Formats: sequence, C-alpha cells, structure tokens
Amino acid sequence: MESVQSESVLDVVIVGGGLVGMSLALALDRVPGLRTLAVEAQPAPSPQAPRWDERHFALGRASTLALDDLGVAYGAAGQHPIRRIHVSRRGAFGRSVLDAATHGLPAFGQIVPARQLAGALEDAMARTTRLERWRPARLQDFAAHDDHVALNLRIGDETRQVQTRLLVAADGTDSVIRNTVNIPLQRHDYVQTALVTAIEVERDLDGCAYERFTDSGPIALLPLDRRRVGLVMTLTTEQAAAAQAMSDDDFLAFAEQRFGTRLGRWRRVGQRQPWPLKLQFAERVIDRRVAVIGNAAQTLHPIGAQGFNLGLRDALALAEVAAAHRDDAGSVQALADYAERRRDDRERTARFSDALARFMASELPIGPLRSLALMSAEHIPLLRDALVRSAMGFR
Ligand SMILES: Cc1cc2nc3c(=O)[nH]c(=O)nc-3n(C[C@H](O)[C@H](O)[C@H](O)COP(=O)(O)OP(=O)(O)OC[C@H]3O[C@@H](n4cnc5c(N)ncnc54)[C@H](O)[C@@H]3O)c2cc1C
Repeated sequence: MESVQSESVLDVVIVGGGLVGMSLALALDRVPGLRTLAVEAQPAPSPQAPRWDERHFALGRASTLALDDLGVAYGAAGQHPIRRIHVSRRGAFGRSVLDAATHGLPAFGQIVPARQLAGALEDAMARTTRLERWRPARLQDFAAHDDHVALNLRIGDETRQVQTRLLVAADGTDSVIRNTVNIPLQRHDYVQTALVTAIEVERDLDGCAYERFTDSGPIALLPLDRRRVGLVMTLTTEQAAAAQAMSDDDFLAFAEQRFGTRLGRWRRVGQRQPWPLKLQFAERVIDRRVAVIGNAAQTLHPIGAQGFNLGLRDALALAEVAAAHRDDAGSVQALADYAERRRDDRERTARFSDALARFMASELPIGPLRSLALMSAEHIPLLRDALVRSAMGFR
C-alpha cells in the first residue's frame, strides 16, 4: 500500500467546474480547516470566447434558498418567479393549474437564464477565501490508494501531481472518473432533442409557466420578462434538425402551431440550441475515495426540470458529509454516509423524470388516459401535492 505525508495531501479535489461542481466548491469553502482544490478543463468565458447557453432553468424554491445561502446572486439581473404552472395536452380536454398562492407561497421557484446562473456562481467563486482553483486544468488520470488518491492534472504542456483524501467527480455526463472506476450505468436514449431558445409572445405570461404535451413531445414555456419567454421544445432527432434549419418566421409558425393560440401570436426568436436527450443513472455514487455528483451521477430528461436541482442537493449533502468527517472526507464511513443520504432522493427524482418523459411522450398513444392524469393532478390532493413538491425541488 502506498501512503503519503498528511500535510501534502489535500482534503478534497473537485474535478469539474460546471454548475454543480461550483456549488460544491462554494459550500466547501465555508468549512474551516478543509483544503479544497477545484479543477475545470475549460477556460473562463470571455468577450473573445463567449459560452453560448440558451437554456433557462426552472429552479425550485429549495434550490433558490440554498443558492441565497451560498451567496449566489442569481437574481441580480432580474427575478422571474413562477407563480403558476399550467399543464395541458394538445388536442385533449385535460389541464391542470397549480397556483403557488393556494399553497401559501409567493412562488414555486424562479426561472434563471443558464448564463446568468453560471455568471453568478463565477462571481461567488471569485469571492472565496480558502478555495484553490486551477483553470484551465484537465484531469488526466488518477490512482486510488487506501488513504489518498494520486492525480495527474494537465495544465498547458505541464503535468502536475496532487494527492487528496477525497476525489469528487463533478465532470458531467461522460465522467472520466466514473468510467475509470467502472461504475455501471442504467441508460435510456429518448431519441429526442430539446430545442431551446427565447421568444416573444403577444400576451403577458404573468408568472405562469406552461407545460404542454403534444404527440411528438412536450413544449415548455418559462416566464421571463412580461412577454419574453424561454422555450423548450422536445422533438424527434430528425424533426429537431429540420426545425433548426428553418427561417425564424417558419420556426415561429411551427412552434406556435404546436403550442396553440393561448398566448397570441409568437414573434422574435433568439438563437436556437439543440440538446440531445438521454437518461443516465449511475448504480453507485461512491468508489474507493471517490464521490460522484451532478450529471456525472445522473443525467435526466429536462421535462421535470430536475437535473441541476438534484445535482445541487448532491453537492450540499456531500459538503455536509465532508464537514462532519473533516479529518478524512474520503474515508469509508464518510462515503457510506454520502451514498446513504443520496439514495432515495436520486432514485425517486430520476424515476419521476423518466416516468413523466415516457408517459407524456409519443411512446404511449393513449391520449384520454394522459388527459385524465392531468385532470386528476388538479383534483386529487396527493398527486397535486407531489407535483407541487417536485416543482419546488423539495423531496
Ligand atoms: C435543455 C435542458 C434544460 C434543462 N433545464 C433544467 C431546469 O430547468 N432545471 C434544472 O434543475 N436542471 C435543468 N437541466 C439540467 C442541468 O443543465 C444539469 O443537470 C446541470 O447543468 C449539470 O451540471 P454539472 O455541473 O453536473 O455538469 P456539467 O455542466 O456537464 O459540468 C461538468 C464540467 O466538468 C468539466 N470536465 C469534464 N471532464 C473534465 C476533466 N477531465 N478535467 C477537468 N474538468 C472536466 C467540463 O468542462 C464541465 O465544465 C436542463 C438540461 C437541459 C439539457
């Protein structure tokens, strides 16, 4: 067994500085005495090299409270609360309206542009005091030993070696760390693509988010400013390629025809961005001295708007575990504690997203049943409460 001098060993190395990796880094920065290094392969976005992300996230109330607590000013450029959620099906009579006020809440959560959220996390990272950050730096390989993990990190032409008690895989859907330790995955390819953009509509959404199910997949409209909305349209891969190639006017007519006339005429579409959809669920989130979080642990269909909300809960739970096991955050006990805390939430949330995606997509041609499900969501308190809880990101 190879062992090392404890003073040369870091407590935590986070590989991946996406939304979830940054959230964990911020939470760990508050733990006194913990030495953390955050590593990200991509350089910081700059005016010369901007990063395009046209997505708008629905963040549940639990997530916005947690981000507030971490000092992430995601709403500084404007707040977009979700006060109502309107769920319906094209060509059917069912619909369900969930109203935050009837649950005694100001809002179910917030719509936050992905770029705004990433920018706010970056700003909060710049204010950290204990955290060390290497960027751009890429994990090349690693070897786990009984009391530490040895890593090789590539920075430009140079390779640097570091050792840590705990290695965190926050390296996204194609996680090299998760694959290297051979954690089995459950997978499903929905053979669908989410086309994401922003548009302007004729009528004010007034804080209402719309989820409309069509035979070729769901459409979600997320309230931004009064008439500006975030659009997520799920299409088959071929339809998405065709829609991507349309002129702006043709695209608006195509999307409006799918959604219906409830919001009047649609105009002015932004840049369209395609996101292929798949489910990937890691059967374990731990290995020797390794913890897996965020999309590396589970990549979900975006229909339930759960991916970041769930990844944030992974990060917060792991930060609590690391604080409780400060002497060795990668010990067998610490990792078992993390796995135990995440088991039910991960399974339930992934099942919920997958069931929603399959049930509402064209795989099941049973329109009336889907309409009934929507109607019953409004009238059966338990089902409605489950939807409300999931909309807020509370489990
Ligand atoms: C269309 C769409 C809409 C969505 N809407 C919502 C929503 O409304 N609400 C919600 O909660 N979620 C939503 N999600 C899900 C959400 O986007 C993801 O769950 C979340 O962004 C995952 O973040 P992450 O940090 O885990 O992974 P990633 O963002 O993939 O970050 C991984 C990072 O690791 C880095 N990396 C990889 N390999 C290495 C290496 N070897 N060395 C160093 N760094 C490395 C990468 O550069 C990257 O920055 C949506 C997703 C899609 C596709």
